[in-house]
Amino acid sequence: MLPTILLLATVGLLILYMFEPIQQKEGFEDSASAYTVPPDDDPRDLPWIASWSAADRAARHGQICVPTYTEDGPYGTTIQTVSKTCEAGMAHTRVGDRIIIPDSIPIPYRDQTIHHELIHIHQRRHTDAWRTFYRRAWSFQFAEAPPADMPNAVKGARRSNPDTWDPATGGPWPVWKGRYWPVPIYTDSQTPHLREANTVWWDAWRREVLAYPPAEWSAFFGTPNQQEHPHELAAVYLTAEDRTSEAGRRVGDWWESTGSLLWSKAPEK
Ligand SMILES: [Zn+2]
Repeated sequence: MLPTILLLATVGLLILYMFEPIQQKEGFEDSASAYTVPPDDDPRDLPWIASWSAADRAARHGQICVPTYTEDGPYGTTIQTVSKTCEAGMAHTRVGDRIIIPDSIPIPYRDQTIHHELIHIHQRRHTDAWRTFYRRAWSFQFAEAPPADMPNAVKGARRSNPDTWDPATGGPWPVWKGRYWPVPIYTDSQTPHLREANTVWWDAWRREVLAYPPAEWSAFFGTPNQQEHPHELAAVYLTAEDRTSEAGRRVGDWWESTGSLLWSKAPEK
């Protein structure tokens, strides 16, 4: 019931937000510019930080991501422990094969978390292989920009995710079957919080925002807990070895026959 209420509230806010005067949206920039990059942030993170929207900056206000402990991880990765304020305590990956683990993640969940993040490292190293898989097996493609008529309320409330952000393009925006665009948006775009976001779907044919995935999508992908991007879907299925959906079966097969073998190959770029 709670997710239903949250989704209804999100759509309601979205509709309200769409009809707000432009000036009010721009006024938001003032509070958001409060994020200042700490001087000891890793310079490799600057392009990602520079890509944040006003809402992204506000949601990360006051966070500290300076590593407190650094160790070698599997497959030539580096694991960095950081404060629980970093990305609101959510593990993630960054440029340079870094896996970032907030110190609030309990030890029993650490291996599983690293497993999930290793899939994201693999996606960073072998972007083209994953894109080919997504296109052929999942009907997902990426665009560098959203369609021109996607409402500003959706674009502006989008939550940036380091695991889906492509340093080469600054995008990308996934689209399923050339029609449905999943976008993770902050539940409250005026006072955004990283952990309070929902995926909405822009139906580019009917030009409407959907609070739920299309039925056809759900029939194929099931009900994974992260819908926002193929990279997250793949990491969720593979980490849980979830083959209950057609999408899960296909990525499981591809991983066994092709994907996992790429660990021993040099990164594409
Ligand atoms: Zn992930």
